[in-house]
Amino acid sequence: MKAYHSKSIAYDKPSFCSNCHKVAKGGLLYIEENKKIHSCCSMACQKETKEKIERGEKLPIKASVNYDSADYCRKRSQHLYKELRQKNSSGDLFNWSAEDRKKFFNWIILEYLNAEVAKSETEE
Ligand SMILES: [Zn+2]
Repeated sequence: MKAYHSKSIAYDKPSFCSNCHKVAKGGLLYIEENKKIHSCCSMACQKETKEKIERGEKLPIKASVNYDSADYCRKRSQHLYKELRQKNSSGDLFNWSAEDRKKFFNWIILEYLNAEVAKSETEE
């Protein structure tokens, strides 16, 4: 096992820490045997994740929506929705260009993750 960093792996890494399920902040753990990537929120969680894997413990992936973060994200996305609605002359996302749909969804996801990062920095 080794800590693994590469640009291409950024597209496959999980958003949440494999150990504590907080938002991951860059530490990646790559398991050579099964080509599995684990994201970690800290060096401590990276070490703990590695130890759990070595002991054969399961690392359940638990994801759930935080409704406060989703609401924050929705509010932070309104301006972009209005801008793209006007640009595409339609409020129906399916009538937008593929590029604009992608831009909008990427923005929503980014805002959600930003909200979760902020929460992880202030809550235990
Ligand atoms: Zn963690």
